[in-house]
Amino acid sequence: MSRRLLVLGYHNIEPSYAFYGTTPEAGRRGFERQVRFLRRWTNVVPLRSALADLAAGRPLPPRAVALTFDDGYLDNATVAAPVLSAAGLPASFFLVPGFLSDTTPVWWEQLGWAFAHATTSEVTWEGVRHDTSSPGARRQANHLVGDALKLLDAQDRLAAVAELRGRLAPEGPPLGRQFLDWDEAKTFLRLGHEIESHTCGHPILSRETGPAQAHELTASRRELAEHFQRPVDVLAYPNGRAQDYSATTVGLAGEAGYAFAVTTRTALAGPGTEPLEVPRVLVDAETDLREVLRGAARVVARRLRRRA
Ligand SMILES: [Zn+2]
Repeated sequence: MSRRLLVLGYHNIEPSYAFYGTTPEAGRRGFERQVRFLRRWTNVVPLRSALADLAAGRPLPPRAVALTFDDGYLDNATVAAPVLSAAGLPASFFLVPGFLSDTTPVWWEQLGWAFAHATTSEVTWEGVRHDTSSPGARRQANHLVGDALKLLDAQDRLAAVAELRGRLAPEGPPLGRQFLDWDEAKTFLRLGHEIESHTCGHPILSRETGPAQAHELTASRRELAEHFQRPVDVLAYPNGRAQDYSATTVGLAGEAGYAFAVTTRTALAGPGTEPLEVPRVLVDAETDLREVLRGAARVVARRLRRRA
């Protein structure tokens, strides 16, 4: 038995303009390989009950792993959920009502698209000149500018993306639909997975006012629970790094009724984990999970040695 939980955090399976990969085929194949690996070498447990067990001091099976997916990319329902269900593995899908309704633009994909199809050979943003003359340079620039935009509040960030789009003068196939709608998201429940909240419109919470954060946390939980007729007890902080949420955010998440919240801070969850700051390891469909598991095993071994 074990008192550690490795929570893996996925986004899309097939490459997107923001989360790169080799090819759609490589993403699908890679994910199928990962699922075979997880079945053979780990015990995949449902996130919510595993966190409740940890919090209550109940042991988990050895090499316990929980699977999570953020944002509601289309391939989560067309590829990930069916592959997982066929293997009998549960997962939790963190959804954004604004994306399900197609009322909130997904800024990072719009920015990635604009950089990928830029027709200018350079772009200046906040005094820094970025080379956009080759695919590699455009990716690098997208990454750096995207990181800078994370310092803005949601409204200013969208304005910045529109401004950058103008400067990059992109020409190419339209972005197309990348995210699930409300109906398609029911696939997760039909296949036995869980639906959780990733806020109403995916702002970076630490950049927003207290009342705006409170609304994002409470309204998304209520809307998802009412629509899917299921309790929604777990939150994933958008972006999820230490600087992307604050002590205020954690307090508001508790007030909004969440039992647990997951971050993107890399660590294993254990008995001492704060319920509203559960660490996760971000991966994609082409990540070598063997390496992730080995890293996790090293962490546990170090802790045991220190205790001995
Ligand atoms: Zn997200």
